[in-house]
Order: sequence, then structure tokens, then C-alpha cells
Amino acid sequence: MTAAISAERLLEDLNPSQREAVTATSGPIAIVAGAGSGKTRVISRRAAYAIETGAVPADQILLVTFTDKAAGEMVERMVSLGHRSVMARTFHAAALAQLRHFWPGRHDGEPLPAILDSKLRLLVPLIGRLPGGYRFTPAKDMADTIEWAKVRRIRPARWVHEGGDRAPIPADLFARVYRDYERSKAEAGLLDFEDMLVETVELLEGDVEAAALVRSRKRWFSVDEYQDTNPLCERLLELWLGESRDLAVVGDPDQTIYTFTGATPEFLLGFADRHPGARTVTLAENYRSSPQILELANRIVADGPRGALRATQPDGPRPAVHRFADAEAELREIVAWCRAVAAAGVAPAETAVLVRVNAQLPAIEDALTRAGIGFTVRGRRFFDRREIREALRLLRRERPAETGGPLVAAVERLFVERLGLDDVAADAGSEGRERAASLELLLGILEDLAAADPALAIDAVLAELDRRGASEAADSADGVNLLTYHRAKGLEWDAVYLPALDEGMLPIRQAKEDEEIAEERRLLYVGITRARRFLALSSSSRKPSRFLAAIEPPRAATPRAARGVAGRVRVLPGAPMAVPVAPDDSLLEALRRWRRERASADGVPAYVVAHDTTLAEIADARPRSLPALRRVRGMGPTKLERYGPEILAVIDAAG
Ligand code: ATP
Ligand code: MG
Repeated sequence: MTAAISAERLLEDLNPSQREAVTATSGPIAIVAGAGSGKTRVISRRAAYAIETGAVPADQILLVTFTDKAAGEMVERMVSLGHRSVMARTFHAAALAQLRHFWPGRHDGEPLPAILDSKLRLLVPLIGRLPGGYRFTPAKDMADTIEWAKVRRIRPARWVHEGGDRAPIPADLFARVYRDYERSKAEAGLLDFEDMLVETVELLEGDVEAAALVRSRKRWFSVDEYQDTNPLCERLLELWLGESRDLAVVGDPDQTIYTFTGATPEFLLGFADRHPGARTVTLAENYRSSPQILELANRIVADGPRGALRATQPDGPRPAVHRFADAEAELREIVAWCRAVAAAGVAPAETAVLVRVNAQLPAIEDALTRAGIGFTVRGRRFFDRREIREALRLLRRERPAETGGPLVAAVERLFVERLGLDDVAADAGSEGRERAASLELLLGILEDLAAADPALAIDAVLAELDRRGASEAADSADGVNLLTYHRAKGLEWDAVYLPALDEGMLPIRQAKEDEEIAEERRLLYVGITRARRFLALSSSSRKPSRFLAAIEPPRAATPRAARGVAGRVRVLPGAPMAVPVAPDDSLLEALRRWRRERASADGVPAYVVAHDTTLAEIADARPRSLPALRRVRGMGPTKLERYGPEILAVIDAAG
């Protein structure tokens, strides 16, 4: 085991403000500072310093982090400082442990109910029963609003009075869905994520002995990413603290990105008022990113209360900004960029592509898989997914005899008949969508193989897939990271690519109010500040994100080969130039006409039927079958089922 590092050495490589925060080991303290300024580092050092100087025993410390991954990393940091026994947990995990301990004693010996992993499962059928066009309301938006209500402890019966107009549907309808959701959850004997916190709060509020026991175990707290705490977490924290005043919070108001679930930076900004005598420390130096990256970040949120971030790292290459005519060109660039940064010496695990929504990931996974570049999506490998292993087993068993194109068609039939690929109605949940997307991706790989070899037979397919699976496994844990901006919070990589900076994607189309747009801007700030040395941004639609204009004025397209990474001239194979592709206008017009009619027949806005970008992609791709149509970005299973045949008819009619 690593020996504990002495108090003196713990301070050695800190700047004066960081040192001030680390040595203030008792009483309330808030550290308000920008990205990459060492906030998380201060939390771990401060805990180690407090133990070393005898301010608190290690087992009385609780370090609260935002995600399980961050908790794991915090434990690693503490281990490397020689303190294995310090506890780091999310609010939810810490609450769950307490609840599990006290639950049987308060519920006739019953164990804690199971936790509902996703609200969508219960919500989808309830939304389907809503009147008129409301039944097309995205379940994710409803789930977010329920979460927002629950963290404010607004019950369904009070929603109409206290919820305002926050819900994506009229307040009375929302209150009904919320009530029915709570009811079906109770009937299934489940607790959801917010229930864990609500139940713990009620336990500690109502049971003096339980509260005393909990407080005797942990009495010294630090909370990371405190700008995204919500009223429920805040209440829990107060209950954990009791009479103790040993609370440190760290955060960056400019990185508040969870207000849609009820988070608010007010707790961070009002900390000193709520905790008389609190010390406030700011950190101005950034230790993560090159000056070139910081300059860009500062243009996104220039004049917050903290002022601009000051660079300490050496110069790096200028961030690249591309505008592509379509998503295909952008995908080719992502592949080329991954290769280029690898060639410049960056390990794949030190590379990340960040997206606004998970639905963007399959297309990128597809492009990387076809290019033979290993990647990790939330820790899972492509060839290791259940549906892909199932599919390969099926192919090995059935061994279709066709070759080339007909072989791909035969495999597709097998997937439809045996793996339920087309069974879109049965599972509208996100898990079903991911499963379908993986199988589609596998079909896409087969299509590529068949295009390269018209005599392609099943043996060659299986051999090639085995080869790719093995190579993915070999370099997987360290593949390119694919994740959302929201998951990327607090993390850092040498090289970061931010694609699809388009109106409708970032800012996301649901963001309309100024406050919502401001949060989208903060997301971009979070994305940019994850990068240490290499950063690339691009748009791929006819309407680039308004934030791009803030970063760089539009400029003439330059052939990629003239730029390259790290200032080196490099010709990137297959790298596109930003030349607009003429869309097929007559088909696009016909699709728009169809959308107008369909939207007015259903009584919903046109974008609910299909997005402009989706129609444009359909017009470009001219798919002739349902599976081909499904490969168009924006065509999920539900849309496919509802509109697929009509869209194909429009394409047919256009010739
Ligand atoms: P975020 O706002 O993104 O969560 P943060 O403020 O928590 O960022 P850290 O992750 O703690 O920042 O630190 C950013 C990087 O800078 C880390 O790699 C960290 O090790 C390094 N770092 C922090 N302080 C110093 C320092 N005084 N000297 C050298 N490196 C430092
Ligand atoms: Mg941090």
C-alpha cells in the first residue's frame, strides 16, 4: 500500500489559492472556480491534508461526487495519496446505503424495494394513452419534468399550482401522467432515483435516532460539482451535516448543465449567505488546456463573475473548426481526425468525441467500426454487446448459402425473423432502439464487405467479424471515448472532437427560452474545456450553431490537407472539403408537402412528424426499404412504424 504523503508534501505542487483551500480544513468553505483550475484536485488533497494533520479521522469523511465514475476516480486519487479507507460516493449511492440499513427495521423486516432503472419503461404506455398529438410527446422530456418536480418535492396533486408551465404538455394532463406514473411504480413495488433521496430525507427528518447514528458515522463533507446540486440533495446534505460545520463545496456556475432536472447554481452562489463565516476561495489558473483552447473557451463564456481563465500550459495547435455540407462528410472527418491525432502520438483512450444526445452515437460508432478504429461507449464494446454476440451465434448456426448482395439480404431477413429487428412496435424504449441500431450497424458492415467483394460468402464474413472483434477486444479498454457532454463533466482528454454543432442539435431544438439557450452554451463550454491539446469542432447541416459564430467568423473553405494536426502538413486520406452538395430539390419538396399534410391531419406541429434535417437526409439517401430508411439519422423505430411506408411511397412516386 502506498505510504501516506506528508502534509508538507501535499502542498508542494499547489498554487497559493489552492493551498489556502487545502489548509482550511475546518468550517464551511466554497471554492468557486472555472474549468480545469484544480477544484477536484483540491478536494482530494484537502481530505488527505485533514487526515495527516489530525483534523478528522479518515473514516468520518464523505466525499460526494456527481457520478459513480467520478466516485471511483476520487477513491483512486485518495489511494494514490495513501488513504485507502476514505469514502467517496454519489448522493444517491450514499443515500441508498443508509436506506438499505434502516428500511427493514421500519417496514416489518421487508428488504428495500428494487430500484427502477429508467422511468421510460413506465412512462411510454402512459404517454401513448394521451389524447391527440400529445401522445407523441417524447418520453424523455416527460421523465425530466417528473424528475424536476420530485427534486422540488412537488407531488402530482400540487403540480397544477406549483409546476407553472414547465411541463411539455398542459399542466392538467401532465399531472395525470405524473400521478399514474407514481401509481404504476408503487404497484410494481419499485422506487425510482428521486425516491431514494426522498425516502432518505424523510427517514432522517422523522427518526431522531437514525439521524444521530448517520451523523456519528460521517461528519466531514466535500461536494464536487456543487453547481449542479438540487433542492433535494441540498436538503439531504443539511440533514447529514446536523450540527457539524465541516462542509466544503466546489463548483463552477458556468458549468451548470443539469437545470432541466431541477439543479440550480443558487446553492453554490448563495453558500456564504447560508453558512455564516464561510470562506470563499477562487482559483484563476487553468492547468488543463493549451492557451489556444482556453482562448476559445473564454469566447464562449467571457465575462462571468470569475473573469477569464488564465493559461499555464504550453502553446498547442490552433483548434480546428469545420463546416461540412452533410453528416457523411463530417463522419469521414471524425475518422480522419482520430487517425491524425493518433499519428501525432495521442493514445486512443486519451481521445474523445462528445455528442449532445445519445441518438448521435450509432452513426459515429458505425463510421469508426467501418474504419477499424476501437472505441468505448459508456464502457461497452461493440462486438461484446449482447445482441451482436447473439447475431454472430445465429449466423454461425444458420450459415446462409448466398453470396454478395443476396447474402446481405438473407442476413437481414434472419435478423428480422429471428432477432426481431423489425419488431419496432414491441419496444419503443431506448434499450430497444440501441439494440436495433447495433444490428443495423452490423448489417452496414456486411454491406461494405459485399461491396468490396461481390463473391463474399458467409465464411469470409465470420472470419472478418471475428478478426474485428478480437482487435477491438485487444485495444478496447483504451479505445476512443464516445459520450455525451453531460457524462463528460469533470473529465479530461488530450484530444476532443465536438461534432454536429448545428442549430437544433446544440442548441438542441427544445431549447427556446433565453435560459435554456444559456444552458446549451454552457454545455459547449464544458465540451471545449475537456480538451488538453487537440480540439476540433464542426457543423454538418445547412444551419450551423449560432455558437460557432461566437467562436470563429465564417471563412472560406480550405482543403483539409493544407492544415493538419500539430501544425504539420498532412494529407488525410478521404478527408472531405467543405463543398456543399446539391440536394435533390424535387424529392425534398415532395417530402415537405407530405409532412405538411400529415402534420395537419394529426394536429401536431410539422417538426413532430419529421425534422428538416431528417427530410434533407432522406432526400439525399433515397432509401428504398424500411431498414434502409431506418439508417437515416432521426428515423427512430417509432417514426419508422408510423411514417415509414408513407415516406417510401413518396420516394417511389418521385421516381
Ligand atoms: P472541472 O471544472 O473540469 O471539473 P477542475 O477544476 O476540477 O476541473 P481538476 O480536474 O482538479 O480541475 O484539474 C485539472 C487538471 O489540472 C488535472 O489534470 C490536475 O491534475 C491538474 N492540476 C490542477 N492543479 C494543478 C497544479 N497546481 N499544478 C499542476 N497541475 C495541476
Ligand atoms: Mg472537477
